[in-house]
Amino acid sequence: MADKIQCSTHGERERTYVCAHLLGETAGLGFNSDEPDSDHPFPDAWCDNCELIRAAHNGWNEEAERLVKISLVCSGCYDRARIRNTTTSVTLDDLADLRWKCGNCEEWHTGPCLDFGYDSPRYWLEEHTEASRVASLMPSWSKERKTFLDEDYCAIDDHDFFVRGTIHLPIVGSAETFRWGVWGSLSRGNFDVLKRNDDQQRIDLPPMFSWLSTRIPEYPDTTNLKMYVHIQKPRQRPHFELELTDHPLSQEYHKGITSERVREIMMGRLRDAEQR
Ligand SMILES: [Zn+2]
Ligand SMILES: [Zn+2]
Ligand SMILES: [Zn+2]
Repeated sequence: MADKIQCSTHGERERTYVCAHLLGETAGLGFNSDEPDSDHPFPDAWCDNCELIRAAHNGWNEEAERLVKISLVCSGCYDRARIRNTTTSVTLDDLADLRWKCGNCEEWHTGPCLDFGYDSPRYWLEEHTEASRVASLMPSWSKERKTFLDEDYCAIDDHDFFVRGTIHLPIVGSAETFRWGVWGSLSRGNFDVLKRNDDQQRIDLPPMFSWLSTRIPEYPDTTNLKMYVHIQKPRQRPHFELELTDHPLSQEYHKGITSERVREIMMGRLRDAEQR
């Protein structure tokens, strides 16, 4: 179709138009447009500076349009620009003076904490820790340990398989992401393929289907949300792509998380967190 564009990042998407300032890695510049609706989900958009030009001309006229450089982008890049440049009342900078005591190193840190993780999938129980300890004491068994947990992989009873990865939530009004370190299920076949490919070529592996296997209490039950595992370079954890649904975690994955909500999560999770 004529209104499609081929994007090197997003593939074939709709054609959309934004002012040139909103291209690339910019953040916090403001994102102005007509109200999107189902017929026009991606109305032309411009930054706050271009909005000053538009307002000075009482709307877009020939002269105002001459002063503003408009660029063609794909709808995926448009969505990214929208998340990064939409301004919010609380910004990531407002979190710069948060102080909190770290559970890992016992030190006091200052600024936003953007990583929270889980050491095991929710199906890993006390009895599994016991079973894997026994197995590790028996060298002859260790080749075929059926139940084990390490920093990246987990198997239970040679039947359920999991990989640890990261869900990146883009933070509205910034180029940063907030990151949940969580576990996703894998089929036996994909688990074997992944464990066998620990070299550079692993990034060429196709995305793998997965069910989210961590319950994150800040949301309605997150277990069994549908995901795709995107394998990264060696020694980098996979990225989990969430299927688009109405679930609040999926919404935050696709539409962004606000700094205000990041602060809420921090204050709820960190011991001795305070705002100076
Ligand atoms: Zn602009
Ligand atoms: Zn794109
Ligand atoms: Zn620390």
